[in-house]
Amino acid sequence: MTEEPLLSIRGLRAGYGGIPVVFHLDLDVGEGEIVALLGANGAGKTTTLRAVSGMIPPMAGTVTLAGERMSGRPAQRIARLGVVHIPEGRGIFPSLEVDETLRLAATMAGVPRRGVAGTVDEMYATFPALARRRGQAARHLSGGEQQMLALARGLIHGPRVLMIDEMSQGLAPTVVDALFALVGSLPQRGVSLLLVEQFVSRALQLASRAYVLEKGEVSYAGSAAALAADEAFVRGSYLGDAGEPAPVMPGGRTADKQAPPAGGPGGVPPNIGG
Ligand code: ATP
Repeated sequence: MTEEPLLSIRGLRAGYGGIPVVFHLDLDVGEGEIVALLGANGAGKTTTLRAVSGMIPPMAGTVTLAGERMSGRPAQRIARLGVVHIPEGRGIFPSLEVDETLRLAATMAGVPRRGVAGTVDEMYATFPALARRRGQAARHLSGGEQQMLALARGLIHGPRVLMIDEMSQGLAPTVVDALFALVGSLPQRGVSLLLVEQFVSRALQLASRAYVLEKGEVSYAGSAAALAADEAFVRGSYLGDAGEPAPVMPGGRTADKQAPPAGGPGGVPPNIGG
């Protein structure tokens, strides 16, 4: 990349209880770019996203957005400034209705009271399937609809960089296709992406660049197409041929953690386009 990256992570060290699990990580996301962050279970991908979004304090290093320092700020401030994290497991409240979830998100994002309804309606226009379920508690949504709700909640913040952790986890391949199509269109709406993803091939199709983490250190940083062409790497990322993804294992080893069963409650594919 020649121009200054939108999101710049330099020398990040992060971990738990004073013990680092991510070491001296450098990573960039350019304006309008989709970047994949890949690696085996426990490599430190989630920890990286948590440290960038302020969910955990970085132990060292800096994170900047368009030159403005994010690291050291509280999570809610970082989200309002434009770096939004959709966590693994989606982080939605099962008892809250879809509409309540989105109105709460708009409030958290700092939307003034009179603007909340309009902001929520914009999300219903993007996700018509959610509009049809607006009065349902989140626990009654299919897995795909829950992921849409998590995406809508993130997008309400008007992010410049959206970091999505394991978007496809537990979803049927048709549902994943629909979500990937939507996410792939986000750069046209001014949202750059950092994706942690177990569907390695699809993530590499969407991304222009990729990073691979191994035991908390970057073992690959470069073109996504070049990584996708590395058959041993991609083959080593999957278990079996049932279309169920398993986390990537650099070096061609077989992953030892099975993905959860496909489909959420009901397993109904979402209708993102309406
Ligand atoms: P996965 O795909 O399994 O989520 P990951 O690459 O996202 O893998 P992390 O979740 O970042 O990996 O975990 C990195 C290391 O940090 C692992 O050894 C993990 O056990 C440890 N770890 C993760 N969360 C915590 C926590 N809350 N407290 C202590 N250790 C943690």
